[in-house]
Amino acid sequence: MFQALPDLPADAVLALAEACRNDPRRDKIDLSVGVYRNDNGVTPVLSAVKAAEHLLLEGQDTKSYVSPLGDTKFVSLIRELAIGNIEVDRLGGVQTPGGGGAVRLACEVIKLAAPFSRIFVGLPTWGNHIPIFEAVGLEIGTYTYYDVISQTLRFDEMLSSLKSARRGDIVLLHATCHNPSGTDLSLDQWRAIAQLVEERGLIPLIDFAYQGFGDGLEQDREGLEIVLSSVSEAFVAYSCSKNFGLYRERTGALFVYGTNPVSVGRTVQAMAALARVNWSMPPDHGAAVVGTILSNTALRQDWLRELTTMRERILKIRAAVGRGMPEFSQLGAQKGMFSTLPLHSATIDRLRKDDAIYIVGNGRINLAGLTTDDVPRFVDSVRRAV
Ligand code: PLP
Repeated sequence: MFQALPDLPADAVLALAEACRNDPRRDKIDLSVGVYRNDNGVTPVLSAVKAAEHLLLEGQDTKSYVSPLGDTKFVSLIRELAIGNIEVDRLGGVQTPGGGGAVRLACEVIKLAAPFSRIFVGLPTWGNHIPIFEAVGLEIGTYTYYDVISQTLRFDEMLSSLKSARRGDIVLLHATCHNPSGTDLSLDQWRAIAQLVEERGLIPLIDFAYQGFGDGLEQDREGLEIVLSSVSEAFVAYSCSKNFGLYRERTGALFVYGTNPVSVGRTVQAMAALARVNWSMPPDHGAAVVGTILSNTALRQDWLRELTTMRERILKIRAAVGRGMPEFSQLGAQKGMFSTLPLHSATIDRLRKDDAIYIVGNGRINLAGLTTDDVPRFVDSVRRAV
Protein backbone atom coordinates (compact mmCIF):
# COMPACT_ATOMS: atom_id res chain seq x y z
CA MET A 1 0.00 0.00 0.00
CA PHE A 2 2.60 2.54 1.00
CA GLN A 3 4.39 2.28 -2.35
CA ALA A 4 1.26 3.63 -3.97
CA LEU A 5 1.47 6.90 -2.07
CA PRO A 6 2.05 9.93 -4.26
CA ASP A 7 4.95 12.19 -3.33
CA LEU A 8 3.42 15.01 -1.36
CA PRO A 9 5.69 18.04 -1.11
CA ALA A 10 6.85 19.17 2.32
CA ASP A 11 5.61 22.65 3.31
CA ALA A 12 8.12 24.92 1.59
CA VAL A 13 8.25 27.50 4.40
CA LEU A 14 8.76 24.91 7.13
CA ALA A 15 11.45 23.20 5.02
CA LEU A 16 13.27 26.52 4.60
CA ALA A 17 13.14 27.18 8.34
CA GLU A 18 14.60 23.72 8.95
CA ALA A 19 17.42 24.45 6.47
CA CYS A 20 18.15 27.68 8.34
CA ARG A 21 18.22 25.88 11.70
CA ASN A 22 20.82 23.50 10.24
CA ASP A 23 22.95 26.32 8.79
CA PRO A 24 26.08 26.68 11.00
CA ARG A 25 26.76 30.33 10.00
CA ARG A 26 26.44 32.50 13.09
CA ASP A 27 25.16 35.58 11.28
CA LYS A 28 22.28 33.81 9.53
CA ILE A 29 18.98 35.67 9.25
CA ASP A 30 15.76 33.65 9.20
CA LEU A 31 12.87 35.52 7.55
CA SER A 32 10.90 32.36 6.73
CA VAL A 33 8.20 31.14 9.14
CA GLY A 34 5.64 33.67 10.38
CA VAL A 35 6.58 33.83 14.02
CA TYR A 36 7.31 36.97 15.98
CA ARG A 37 10.83 37.34 17.36
CA ASN A 38 12.05 39.96 19.80
CA ASP A 39 15.16 42.07 19.28
CA ASN A 40 17.30 39.21 20.59
CA GLY A 41 15.92 36.92 17.90
CA VAL A 42 13.81 34.95 20.38
CA THR A 43 10.11 34.02 20.17
CA PRO A 44 9.29 34.59 23.84
CA VAL A 45 6.60 33.05 26.01
CA LEU A 46 4.64 36.18 26.96
CA SER A 47 4.80 36.96 30.66
CA ALA A 48 0.97 37.10 30.82
CA VAL A 49 0.97 33.56 29.41
CA LYS A 50 3.50 32.38 32.02
CA ALA A 51 1.43 33.95 34.81
CA ALA A 52 -1.77 32.34 33.49
CA GLU A 53 0.02 28.99 33.30
CA HIS A 54 1.02 29.31 36.96
CA LEU A 55 -2.59 30.00 37.91
CA LEU A 56 -3.75 27.00 35.87
CA LEU A 57 -1.10 24.75 37.38
CA GLU A 58 -2.38 25.62 40.86
CA GLY A 59 -6.09 25.73 40.12
CA GLN A 60 -6.89 23.20 37.42
CA ASP A 61 -8.62 20.26 39.07
CA THR A 62 -9.32 17.91 36.17
CA LYS A 63 -7.92 16.76 32.87
CA SER A 64 -11.19 15.16 31.85
CA TYR A 65 -12.39 15.65 28.26
CA VAL A 66 -13.63 18.99 27.02
CA SER A 67 -16.24 18.72 24.23
CA PRO A 68 -16.04 19.06 20.46
CA LEU A 69 -17.19 22.67 20.99
CA GLY A 70 -14.11 23.30 23.12
CA ASP A 71 -13.91 25.80 25.95
CA THR A 72 -17.09 27.89 25.74
CA LYS A 73 -15.73 30.61 28.05
CA PHE A 74 -12.73 31.03 25.73
CA VAL A 75 -15.00 31.15 22.67
CA SER A 76 -17.16 33.87 24.15
CA LEU A 77 -14.14 35.97 25.27
CA ILE A 78 -12.61 35.68 21.77
CA ARG A 79 -15.95 36.61 20.24
CA GLU A 80 -15.92 39.87 22.22
CA LEU A 81 -12.30 40.55 21.32
CA ALA A 82 -12.56 39.69 17.64
CA ILE A 83 -16.06 40.72 16.73
CA GLY A 84 -17.24 43.04 19.49
CA ASN A 85 -20.94 43.10 20.18
CA ILE A 86 -22.37 42.93 16.67
CA GLU A 87 -25.74 41.13 16.83
CA VAL A 88 -24.62 38.50 19.29
CA ASP A 89 -27.67 36.32 18.68
CA ARG A 90 -26.62 35.89 15.05
CA LEU A 91 -23.21 34.54 16.10
CA GLY A 92 -22.05 31.12 17.20
CA GLY A 93 -18.57 29.70 17.63
CA VAL A 94 -16.43 26.71 18.48
CA GLN A 95 -12.83 26.38 19.61
CA THR A 96 -10.46 24.97 16.98
CA PRO A 97 -6.83 23.80 16.83
CA GLY A 98 -5.40 27.16 15.73
CA GLY A 99 -6.53 29.43 12.93
CA GLY A 100 -5.59 26.73 10.43
CA GLY A 101 -8.05 24.36 12.12
CA ALA A 102 -10.71 27.09 11.94
CA VAL A 103 -10.17 27.54 8.18
CA ARG A 104 -10.32 23.77 7.70
CA LEU A 105 -13.53 23.45 9.73
CA ALA A 106 -15.17 26.32 7.81
CA CYS A 107 -14.35 24.51 4.57
CA GLU A 108 -15.82 21.26 5.89
CA VAL A 109 -19.06 23.07 6.79
CA ILE A 110 -19.15 24.67 3.32
CA LYS A 111 -18.57 21.31 1.64
CA LEU A 112 -21.44 19.81 3.63
CA ALA A 113 -23.90 22.67 3.19
CA ALA A 114 -23.09 23.74 -0.36
CA PRO A 115 -20.85 21.16 -2.08
CA PHE A 116 -20.87 23.03 -5.39
CA SER A 117 -19.98 26.45 -4.00
CA ARG A 118 -16.62 27.78 -5.15
CA ILE A 119 -14.20 29.50 -2.85
CA PHE A 120 -12.63 32.67 -4.27
CA VAL A 121 -9.15 33.32 -2.96
CA GLY A 122 -7.05 36.40 -3.62
CA LEU A 123 -3.50 35.83 -4.84
CA PRO A 124 -1.00 35.78 -3.34
CA THR A 125 -2.20 34.27 -0.09
CA TRP A 126 -1.04 32.26 2.95
CA GLY A 127 0.65 29.11 1.60
CA ASN A 128 -1.72 26.75 3.39
CA HIS A 129 -5.04 28.23 2.19
CA ILE A 130 -5.21 26.54 -1.20
CA PRO A 131 -3.93 23.15 0.06
CA ILE A 132 -6.68 23.18 2.71
CA PHE A 133 -9.37 24.03 0.14
CA GLU A 134 -8.08 21.28 -2.15
CA ALA A 135 -7.92 18.75 0.69
CA VAL A 136 -11.60 19.38 1.44
CA GLY A 137 -12.43 19.18 -2.27
CA LEU A 138 -13.76 22.70 -2.76
CA GLU A 139 -13.68 24.18 -6.22
CA ILE A 140 -11.33 27.16 -6.18
CA GLY A 141 -11.73 30.48 -7.96
CA THR A 142 -8.99 33.09 -7.77
CA TYR A 143 -8.72 36.84 -7.95
CA THR A 144 -5.64 39.02 -8.18
CA TYR A 145 -5.20 40.84 -4.89
CA TYR A 146 -1.69 42.23 -4.99
CA ASP A 147 0.84 42.66 -7.75
CA VAL A 148 4.29 41.93 -6.36
CA ILE A 149 6.24 43.45 -9.24
CA SER A 150 4.57 46.86 -9.02
CA GLN A 151 3.98 46.49 -5.24
CA THR A 152 0.34 47.52 -5.59
CA LEU A 153 -3.06 46.34 -4.41
CA ARG A 154 -5.24 45.34 -7.40
CA PHE A 155 -8.59 46.39 -6.03
CA ASP A 156 -10.32 46.92 -9.38
CA GLU A 157 -9.25 43.47 -10.55
CA MET A 158 -10.47 42.02 -7.27
CA LEU A 159 -13.89 43.62 -7.74
CA SER A 160 -14.23 42.54 -11.33
CA SER A 161 -13.21 38.92 -10.55
CA LEU A 162 -15.69 38.76 -7.71
CA LYS A 163 -18.40 39.89 -10.11
CA SER A 164 -18.01 36.50 -11.79
CA ALA A 165 -18.81 34.68 -8.54
CA ARG A 166 -22.21 33.03 -8.28
CA ARG A 167 -24.73 33.38 -5.43
CA GLY A 168 -23.57 31.13 -2.57
CA ASP A 169 -19.88 31.22 -3.54
CA ILE A 170 -17.39 31.95 -0.76
CA VAL A 171 -14.91 34.84 -0.68
CA LEU A 172 -11.79 34.48 1.42
CA LEU A 173 -10.67 37.79 2.95
CA HIS A 174 -7.77 38.55 5.29
CA ALA A 175 -9.03 40.71 8.18
CA THR A 176 -5.74 42.51 8.77
CA CYS A 177 -1.97 42.25 8.17
CA HIS A 178 -2.39 40.44 4.86
CA ASN A 179 -0.14 37.39 4.53
CA PRO A 180 2.07 37.64 2.47
CA SER A 181 1.73 41.19 1.10
CA GLY A 182 1.27 43.29 4.27
CA THR A 183 -1.25 45.28 2.24
CA ASP A 184 -4.77 45.64 3.61
CA LEU A 185 -7.96 47.06 2.16
CA SER A 186 -8.82 50.65 3.13
CA LEU A 187 -12.10 51.13 4.99
CA ASP A 188 -13.72 52.44 1.79
CA GLN A 189 -12.56 49.33 -0.03
CA TRP A 190 -13.98 47.15 2.74
CA ARG A 191 -17.31 48.99 2.30
CA ALA A 192 -17.26 48.35 -1.45
CA ILE A 193 -16.50 44.64 -0.87
CA ALA A 194 -19.25 44.38 1.75
CA GLN A 195 -21.73 45.89 -0.67
CA LEU A 196 -20.71 43.63 -3.55
CA VAL A 197 -20.77 40.53 -1.36
CA GLU A 198 -24.26 41.29 -0.09
CA GLU A 199 -25.65 42.29 -3.49
CA ARG A 200 -24.40 39.11 -5.14
CA GLY A 201 -25.25 36.77 -2.27
CA LEU A 202 -21.63 35.73 -1.60
CA ILE A 203 -20.43 34.44 1.77
CA PRO A 204 -17.22 35.88 3.26
CA LEU A 205 -14.77 33.69 5.10
CA ILE A 206 -12.68 36.19 7.03
CA ASP A 207 -9.32 34.89 8.17
CA PHE A 208 -8.31 36.84 11.30
CA ALA A 209 -4.84 35.65 12.28
CA TYR A 210 -3.09 38.87 13.33
CA GLN A 211 -5.38 40.93 15.55
CA GLY A 212 -3.28 43.58 17.30
CA PHE A 213 -0.29 43.29 14.94
CA GLY A 214 -1.53 46.01 12.56
CA ASP A 215 -2.85 49.20 14.18
CA GLY A 216 -4.35 47.89 17.43
CA LEU A 217 -7.04 45.49 18.63
CA GLU A 218 -10.07 47.61 17.75
CA GLN A 219 -8.62 49.14 14.58
CA ASP A 220 -7.68 45.72 13.21
CA ARG A 221 -11.28 44.52 13.31
CA GLU A 222 -12.82 47.53 11.54
CA GLY A 223 -12.96 45.87 8.11
CA LEU A 224 -14.55 42.76 9.60
CA GLU A 225 -17.16 44.92 11.39
CA ILE A 226 -18.03 46.67 8.13
CA VAL A 227 -18.57 43.34 6.41
CA LEU A 228 -20.56 41.73 9.21
CA SER A 229 -22.81 44.73 9.59
CA SER A 230 -24.00 44.40 6.00
CA VAL A 231 -23.97 40.71 5.04
CA SER A 232 -26.44 37.92 5.80
CA GLU A 233 -23.97 35.10 6.42
CA ALA A 234 -20.24 34.84 7.08
CA PHE A 235 -17.49 32.82 8.75
CA VAL A 236 -14.66 34.23 10.87
CA ALA A 237 -11.58 32.03 11.42
CA TYR A 238 -9.52 33.30 14.37
CA SER A 239 -5.99 32.48 15.51
CA CYS A 240 -4.40 33.16 18.91
CA SER A 241 -1.04 31.89 17.65
CA LYS A 242 0.54 35.28 16.99
CA ASN A 243 -1.14 37.77 19.31
CA PHE A 244 -0.82 35.48 22.36
CA GLY A 245 2.42 33.87 21.17
CA LEU A 246 0.79 30.44 21.57
CA TYR A 247 1.83 28.95 18.22
CA ARG A 248 2.40 25.33 19.24
CA GLU A 249 -0.57 25.23 21.61
CA ARG A 250 -2.91 25.29 18.59
CA THR A 251 -5.42 27.84 19.85
CA GLY A 252 -8.13 29.33 17.66
CA ALA A 253 -11.85 29.58 17.02
CA LEU A 254 -14.35 29.48 14.18
CA PHE A 255 -17.39 31.76 14.25
CA VAL A 256 -20.47 31.56 12.11
CA TYR A 257 -22.64 34.60 11.49
CA GLY A 258 -26.11 33.76 10.25
CA THR A 259 -29.49 35.30 9.67
CA ASN A 260 -31.18 33.97 12.81
CA PRO A 261 -30.43 32.01 15.99
CA VAL A 262 -31.97 28.80 14.60
CA SER A 263 -29.71 28.58 11.54
CA VAL A 264 -26.71 29.61 13.64
CA GLY A 265 -27.51 26.89 16.18
CA ARG A 266 -27.77 24.28 13.44
CA THR A 267 -24.45 25.38 11.98
CA VAL A 268 -22.72 25.21 15.36
CA GLN A 269 -24.11 21.71 15.79
CA ALA A 270 -22.64 20.77 12.38
CA MET A 271 -19.32 22.35 13.36
CA ALA A 272 -19.26 20.23 16.54
CA ALA A 273 -20.08 17.06 14.58
CA LEU A 274 -17.38 17.78 11.99
CA ALA A 275 -14.86 18.60 14.73
CA ARG A 276 -15.69 15.26 16.36
CA VAL A 277 -14.77 13.27 13.25
CA ASN A 278 -11.62 15.31 12.62
CA TRP A 279 -9.83 16.05 15.90
CA SER A 280 -12.58 14.94 18.28
CA MET A 281 -12.02 17.91 20.54
CA PRO A 282 -9.51 20.76 20.56
CA PRO A 283 -6.50 20.89 22.91
CA ASP A 284 -7.34 22.59 26.19
CA HIS A 285 -4.21 24.34 27.36
CA GLY A 286 -3.90 27.34 25.01
CA ALA A 287 -7.59 28.18 25.31
CA ALA A 288 -7.43 27.90 29.11
CA VAL A 289 -4.45 30.31 29.09
CA VAL A 290 -6.23 32.82 26.85
CA GLY A 291 -9.43 32.54 28.91
CA THR A 292 -7.45 33.18 32.11
CA ILE A 293 -5.70 36.22 30.64
CA LEU A 294 -8.79 37.84 29.14
CA SER A 295 -10.89 37.40 32.27
CA ASN A 296 -8.27 38.75 34.68
CA THR A 297 -7.86 42.54 34.64
CA ALA A 298 -4.18 42.60 35.59
CA LEU A 299 -3.17 39.81 33.19
CA ARG A 300 -5.18 41.40 30.41
CA GLN A 301 -3.31 44.68 30.95
CA ASP A 302 0.02 42.83 30.89
CA TRP A 303 -0.92 41.08 27.68
CA LEU A 304 -2.01 44.34 26.03
CA ARG A 305 1.35 45.88 26.97
CA GLU A 306 3.22 42.94 25.47
CA LEU A 307 1.09 43.00 22.32
CA THR A 308 1.85 46.70 21.94
CA THR A 309 5.56 46.00 22.37
CA MET A 310 5.43 43.36 19.62
CA ARG A 311 3.52 45.65 17.28
CA GLU A 312 5.81 48.60 17.90
CA ARG A 313 8.94 46.55 17.34
CA ILE A 314 7.64 45.32 13.98
CA LEU A 315 6.79 48.93 13.03
CA LYS A 316 10.26 50.08 14.01
CA ILE A 317 11.95 47.38 11.93
CA ARG A 318 9.61 48.12 9.02
CA ALA A 319 10.45 51.80 9.15
CA ALA A 320 14.20 51.09 9.28
CA VAL A 321 14.07 48.63 6.35
CA GLY A 322 11.81 51.02 4.40
CA ARG A 323 14.28 53.89 4.93
CA GLY A 324 17.15 51.67 3.81
CA MET A 325 15.37 50.49 0.64
CA PRO A 326 13.54 53.47 -0.82
CA GLU A 327 13.04 51.51 -4.05
CA PHE A 328 10.45 49.45 -2.16
CA SER A 329 8.48 52.49 -1.15
CA GLN A 330 5.42 50.60 0.16
CA LEU A 331 7.36 48.69 2.81
CA GLY A 332 7.13 51.32 5.51
CA ALA A 333 3.37 51.71 5.10
CA GLN A 334 2.50 48.02 5.05
CA LYS A 335 1.21 46.19 8.12
CA GLY A 336 1.97 43.15 10.19
CA MET A 337 4.97 40.89 9.99
CA PHE A 338 5.08 40.32 6.23
CA SER A 339 5.96 42.04 3.00
CA THR A 340 6.71 40.42 -0.34
CA LEU A 341 9.65 41.76 -2.31
CA PRO A 342 9.84 41.44 -6.10
CA LEU A 343 12.94 39.22 -6.03
CA HIS A 344 13.88 36.63 -8.66
CA SER A 345 14.31 33.12 -7.37
CA ALA A 346 17.99 33.27 -8.38
CA THR A 347 18.40 36.34 -6.15
CA ILE A 348 16.67 34.58 -3.26
CA ASP A 349 19.00 31.58 -3.71
CA ARG A 350 22.05 33.84 -3.83
CA LEU A 351 21.02 35.65 -0.64
CA ARG A 352 20.73 32.30 1.10
CA LYS A 353 24.00 30.88 -0.21
CA ASP A 354 26.20 33.97 0.00
CA ASP A 355 24.68 35.93 2.88
CA ALA A 356 22.83 33.31 4.98
CA ILE A 357 19.59 35.28 4.53
CA TYR A 358 16.60 32.95 4.31
CA ILE A 359 13.66 34.34 2.31
CA VAL A 360 10.65 32.32 1.15
CA GLY A 361 10.63 31.50 -2.59
CA ASN A 362 7.81 33.93 -3.40
CA GLY A 363 9.86 36.82 -1.93
CA ARG A 364 7.96 36.98 1.36
CA ILE A 365 9.96 38.33 4.27
CA ASN A 366 9.00 38.16 7.94
CA LEU A 367 10.20 41.51 9.25
CA ALA A 368 9.92 40.24 12.81
CA GLY A 369 12.79 37.90 11.95
CA LEU A 370 15.18 40.88 11.84
CA THR A 371 16.86 42.32 14.89
CA THR A 372 17.79 46.01 14.88
CA ASP A 373 21.43 44.99 14.39
CA ASP A 374 20.52 42.82 11.37
CA VAL A 375 18.87 45.65 9.44
CA PRO A 376 21.95 47.31 7.85
CA ARG A 377 23.39 43.98 6.65
CA PHE A 378 20.02 42.83 5.37
CA VAL A 379 19.42 46.09 3.49
CA ASP A 380 22.94 46.07 2.01
CA SER A 381 22.72 42.43 0.93
CA VAL A 382 19.32 42.81 -0.74
CA ARG A 383 20.30 46.03 -2.51
CA ARG A 384 23.51 44.45 -3.75
CA ALA A 385 21.70 41.29 -4.85
CA VAL A 386 19.06 43.14 -6.88
N1 PLP B 1 -4.28 32.33 8.47
C1 PLP B 1 -3.23 33.06 8.10
C2 PLP B 1 -3.43 34.17 7.11
C3 PLP B 1 -1.97 32.80 8.62
O1 PLP B 1 -0.94 33.55 8.24
C4 PLP B 1 -1.82 31.75 9.55
C5 PLP B 1 -0.52 31.42 10.11
O2 PLP B 1 0.51 31.70 9.63
C6 PLP B 1 -2.95 31.02 9.90
C7 PLP B 1 -4.17 31.33 9.35
C8 PLP B 1 -2.92 29.85 10.85
O3 PLP B 1 -2.45 30.08 12.08
P1 PLP B 1 -2.40 28.93 13.18
O4 PLP B 1 -0.98 28.70 13.46
O5 PLP B 1 -3.17 29.48 14.33
O6 PLP B 1 -3.07 27.72 12.62
